[in-house]
Amino acid sequence: MDIRPLAELRAAADLSLAFNPYGLGGRMRPEEAAEFQQRQNADCDLTAGAAAGTRDSFERLRTVFAYGVLCYDVYTIVSDQALLIYEQALRDRFMEWCGGTITFRVPQAPDVSYSVTSYDDVKRCANRMMRQRAKLAVGTHDIEFNGILHGLRLWARTAGLLRGRRSRAAEEALAKLRNHVAHPSSHHVDTPVGAARTVRDLAELINQLWGRATPDGRLYPAPLHREIAVLSWNSAGRTRMEPADALTAADSMEDQEDDEYQHVVVRAIPFIPGSRWNDEHWAEFDTRYETTQFPTEYLWGPGTRTEARTWLEHERPEGDSVDFTDRVFLVQEHERVLPPMQPAVAAGLPDNERVGIWHTVRADLPEDAFVHVRGSRDRSTGHARRPGDCPACSAEVLGSGSHDEALRAAAAALGTDPSHAATFRPAPFLHLLARPAVSRLPHASEVGACAIED
Ligand SMILES: [Zn+2]
Repeated sequence: MDIRPLAELRAAADLSLAFNPYGLGGRMRPEEAAEFQQRQNADCDLTAGAAAGTRDSFERLRTVFAYGVLCYDVYTIVSDQALLIYEQALRDRFMEWCGGTITFRVPQAPDVSYSVTSYDDVKRCANRMMRQRAKLAVGTHDIEFNGILHGLRLWARTAGLLRGRRSRAAEEALAKLRNHVAHPSSHHVDTPVGAARTVRDLAELINQLWGRATPDGRLYPAPLHREIAVLSWNSAGRTRMEPADALTAADSMEDQEDDEYQHVVVRAIPFIPGSRWNDEHWAEFDTRYETTQFPTEYLWGPGTRTEARTWLEHERPEGDSVDFTDRVFLVQEHERVLPPMQPAVAAGLPDNERVGIWHTVRADLPEDAFVHVRGSRDRSTGHARRPGDCPACSAEVLGSGSHDEALRAAAAALGTDPSHAATFRPAPFLHLLARPAVSRLPHASEVGACAIED
């Protein structure tokens, strides 16, 4: 190889300077590029609880990333290394989880436990037990465990350390990349953008493994804050969303009272310009179907602005935080696929509306559940029809059949019986994304009259 002088090694790489805050284009000065690239993952710190070995590997990765400005190949090496640390983190977490003892369930024989002091011990036991078709005990479950990445991922999900349906699909993609890195079949080059994202994803995954969700995270987001909001609409189909404060603030009423508008009070993700959590479908809010992207909780209405203010001043509801991942939905298929429902709403339906086939699906967003059920009507699409993770999308099938059977599947998944919280929410049928469904809600007095007492 050519021996290069120190001055040349210290010089910024041309290609690295071409990446700027706006993507590829104008060249940055080396000083700017060095700062810009380090800022890409400056804020993704690991939780103090993460294993020391995993933390050290991650910090080394971040240190090396900064040198990408001098050597473009560093970005590819960083990405490859991040995927290996993915497996290291799972191993380290496994060792903490097992506390030195792993137990296998052997067919037609008593359970077998082993003491393990290193992950090499775990792999040896796993190999021996696989040959006897024994399964690893994870709480009340038992899983096939081969000790390598596939088994570790299954373990982390079964042990409840990783959550979210969309993140599961991302884990699947990471595992494929990881296998490619370990057994490369072709040359690949990563960009600073790709490498920075892989490092961020890795930080989220490590933090989640050790119990910390990521505020504003892409894979394992922390619960979202909801505030009290007022939705209103008029007969022309115009819709508005405003914070409850706008109604209760002093002398805000006189000039805004508008008989033409109907109002409902909800708990919802506040609309913040530029936020990735803005609900694009807030205006399609419906009390029967889950038509908004994030959980929007019906509190009162509909009624006039004055009635809404009176209710708010009397009840003083407060905001909360909500985890939108891993939700359980019921989807009714009767002539066509209807939008997803909350189990408690489905449990409150009158008998004549329980017709058709019902599907119980776990998904992060209602549209994921809907797309899965609609897709599963056509076998060629590859969507799962039996309980388990769907290979074609991020949904998990929990069960299907009659209204009763689907509710039982929901109860098993939730650990509580949705019938105990049954609420009948009268609203007419609507197509997914049809708007404005809320405008056809009955008046508040009728909603109260229709509520079912358990
Ligand atoms: Zn699917």
